[in-house]
Amino acid sequence: MSPKDVDVLIIGSGPAGYTAAIYTSRAGLKTILYKGDQPGGQLTITSDVENYPGYPEGIMGPQMMIDFENQASRFGTDIKNGMIKSVNFLDKNLQAIAEDDTLINPKTIIISTGASAKWLNLESEQRLNGKGVSACAVCDGFFFKDQVVGVVGGGDTAAEEALYLSKLTKQVNLIVRRDEMRASTIMQNRVLDNKKINIYWNSEVKEVLGDDFVTGIDIINNKSKEISNIKLNGLFIAIGHKPNTDIFKDYLNMDESGYIKTIPGSTETNIKGVFATGDAQDNIYRQAVTAAGSGCMGALDAERFISNNY
Ligand code: NDP
Repeated sequence: MSPKDVDVLIIGSGPAGYTAAIYTSRAGLKTILYKGDQPGGQLTITSDVENYPGYPEGIMGPQMMIDFENQASRFGTDIKNGMIKSVNFLDKNLQAIAEDDTLINPKTIIISTGASAKWLNLESEQRLNGKGVSACAVCDGFFFKDQVVGVVGGGDTAAEEALYLSKLTKQVNLIVRRDEMRASTIMQNRVLDNKKINIYWNSEVKEVLGDDFVTGIDIINNKSKEISNIKLNGLFIAIGHKPNTDIFKDYLNMDESGYIKTIPGSTETNIKGVFATGDAQDNIYRQAVTAAGSGCMGALDAERFISNNY
């Protein structure tokens, strides 16, 4: 497909992007999808997805995204590796430039760039990233088989990572900064019932220790101010996500965290022909199924825009 001849450019390859692609391609619109730097999105770094309807036994996240991609391909989506590095929404004709400098002038753009893991921003955490520090238990947990690990966070991601790691490792130390977890009750109960998971409440990581590889952490109890040391081999950071919307910040209305604002009940942004879907615009639900649903909405909005304007 020529980059000049594109009805819909989809940026991102999570559930929102692929669902949008399935709908626009199936509707006969010429669709290009750029996968971005984490093809398949966040589901490729998760384990069992148990809450996506249609999979009564659950499905592994990476397999689910392969299925999504195959479904989009089947209807003719032109799927490209790589990133869209910049956009220009000042002219009437939308413009996007891919990382290999291909210029694309699509009639519509569906943004499905999702969100990325947040870090604690400690110097020691960054220095030891990939040397025992990770944000993905499914990717890296295997390296800590029968060892001791830590997980930082109190949300569903932290609970999921701690539970996953408890199956592989000798012990999991969960560092929660308040005296309660934010995770859903079912996940909290699973964590609390798991004998291999040891919870440090009201605690924050002060330093990640180790020269070439993680050997432990210093944590501080934010109530008593007491500092303790935990010896461990791996540390998994699971403290939430940041939307991947930086390249749009000069053009699109966003909230203070960078989530793109859409007109309620639609995926329309403040720029005509540009639609935002999935976690890039949703800081509330952030589920695969809600992302897929908003991808569908984006596709229908783009289809309607094209038939009304071209
Ligand atoms: P959340 O924003 O829900 O939770 C982040 C957690 O990290 C909170 O406990 C927060 O603490 C803690 N935290 C944030 N910053 C720091 C910091 N600097 N130091 C220490 N702790 C910190 O993010 P999640 O990624 O867990 O979940 C995101 C969304 O995805 C949620 O809606 C969740 O329900 C959903 N999800 C669903 C899953 C499922 O259904 N299977 C699996 C994974 C995620 P505090 O509470 O004090 O703010």
